[in-house]
Amino acid sequence: MSLAVCVFCSSADGVPGPLRGLAADVGAGLATRGWRLVYGGGGLGLMGEVARAALAGGAHVTGVIPHGLAALEAELLEVDDLVRVDDLRARKAAMDARADAFLVLPGGLGTLEELLETLTLRQLGVHDRPIVLLDPEGHWRALHDLLDGLVASGFASGDLAGALPTAHRAEEALDALAAQVRPQG
Ligand code: AMP
Repeated sequence: MSLAVCVFCSSADGVPGPLRGLAADVGAGLATRGWRLVYGGGGLGLMGEVARAALAGGAHVTGVIPHGLAALEAELLEVDDLVRVDDLRARKAAMDARADAFLVLPGGLGTLEELLETLTLRQLGVHDRPIVLLDPEGHWRALHDLLDGLVASGFASGDLAGALPTAHRAEEALDALAAQVRPQG
């Protein structure tokens, strides 16, 4: 089975054009590599850009969306596999269960929450799948500073920021994931 990349990113509709292009590059890049996309199932913002570009390139796309958000986030009915779940927690669990690796683009509260849970579980050794940030404009710089501060003050240990390598271009991000994924089996 090909690599399944779970993408966390913004669902906001007002995101500027360059980031939309970046999101589309991710979708196209996944398709070119023959990889699969797992994402939140919506059609708005960067989420919609990634998914539409992945579908246009022929990638297999799984969308996971809570019943209550289907209209609000304009669920994308043309995905290959549309998984409807009860709530946001179930969505995260369903995405996690299908993911071999995680790619995080700029986003808001939802993206931050998904990223922190995935990072926390990795630091606890619950999983060892790669997490890469795609962040050409320093959207997550304050998060890196916060994580460094937690370690410096003794509230967290390990190289937290180092566990989140940052790429500036889609291809660089996908290469970084490929380099970290462990062979299956
Ligand atoms: P955002 O980054 O806020 O645009 O949200 C990205 C995605 O995360 C959207 O599809 C939201 O529905 C979802 N989301 C928002 N809040 C949460 C949360 N607390 N837990 C999990 N997903 C969330």
